[in-house]
Amino acid sequence: MTHRVDRIPLKSPSPGTERFLTVHRFGQEGARPKTYLQAALHADEWPGLMALNHLIPMLAEADAEGRIVGEIVVLPYANPIGLAQRIGGAVAGRYALEGSGNFNRNWPDLAAGAAAYLNGTLSGDAERDVPAMRAALLKAVGDLSTRTDTTHWRAQLLALSIDADHVIDIHCDNESLAHIYCHRRHAEQGQALAAYSGIPIVLLEEEAGGFSFDDCNAGVWRRMGDLVTHGDSLPMACFACTLELRGKDDISDELGHSDATGIYHFLMAQGAISGDPPAVPDMPEPYRLEEVDTVTTQEGGLLAYKAGVGEMVREGQVLAELIDIAAADPTKARTQLRSQTDGIFFARVDLRLVEAGERIGKVAGRKPLANRQQGALLED
Ligand SMILES: [Zn+2]
Repeated sequence: MTHRVDRIPLKSPSPGTERFLTVHRFGQEGARPKTYLQAALHADEWPGLMALNHLIPMLAEADAEGRIVGEIVVLPYANPIGLAQRIGGAVAGRYALEGSGNFNRNWPDLAAGAAAYLNGTLSGDAERDVPAMRAALLKAVGDLSTRTDTTHWRAQLLALSIDADHVIDIHCDNESLAHIYCHRRHAEQGQALAAYSGIPIVLLEEEAGGFSFDDCNAGVWRRMGDLVTHGDSLPMACFACTLELRGKDDISDELGHSDATGIYHFLMAQGAISGDPPAVPDMPEPYRLEEVDTVTTQEGGLLAYKAGVGEMVREGQVLAELIDIAAADPTKARTQLRSQTDGIFFARVDLRLVEAGERIGKVAGRKPLANRQQGALLED
């Protein structure tokens, strides 16, 4: 039995307040592949809490049977700072109230820090370079600022994830089908995770921008080219993805169990757990993130959706009507919001009173869109 539960103390933000991370560890430290999973980095997104609640006992059982091959690290809740941001009955879990912004943006670029520890060169032999890079990354994480409770917390998560082979960061959308974001060079693994989990949509990014947690972990491997000799030949040795487990209210034991089972089978397929995963059905081709239409409001107002989550829609089809509740004549107060592509309408917002500039829907299509730009493909 290797299962161990650690408690990592976090920096106290104020006198009399204590926070900690709970970390479940399976397998031998240093064994490969290493998998890191966390839920609710955006602290108001809870389906992943349920999925990991179901996954941990499955891993414990595999451990009791001696079937954990690699090292598996599970954070059943990633963000106790955000979880505590309960205001008037609602959890404001997306942005840090102390002012540092979106919890899943502006994770550090560790490339320069790692390059310094590599003394400017790799060997060009991946067998040697991948472990050297991981060691350098861990040192670079050790150099991160831990000045505030938030920066200290961020450094603790990265110290657990940055040397992993697989990083699965579990989020959710507002009202949505399940979907996965990952880098296009990791399409095969993204597709495998989707197939085992019955997830219909994989969104591939080249340069999404925003420095999300998955990009921090995976992207650093492709940012070494200009910094160290042979950096160009370094494989992207960390598959990191953002797994969006449907909408905020899609939380049940049934979904948690099936999501955990999907992840478990993916881990078997990746060699992290011994055994043969079941056969999976063919998946639709992944979508490119720049081909996802994000339908945006020009004004604030009341929203009346005209298409449902999961509906196949056509270019020009009305997805919603925006009602100007300040209009003198309510019969002339409606603006139609249309899809700019043929595709699957896979995500909507949950609040029906929206602000100007809000992205109220996502349609995954197959054509490049003029309103989508590399480097600015994620919401704030
Ligand atoms: Zn999120």
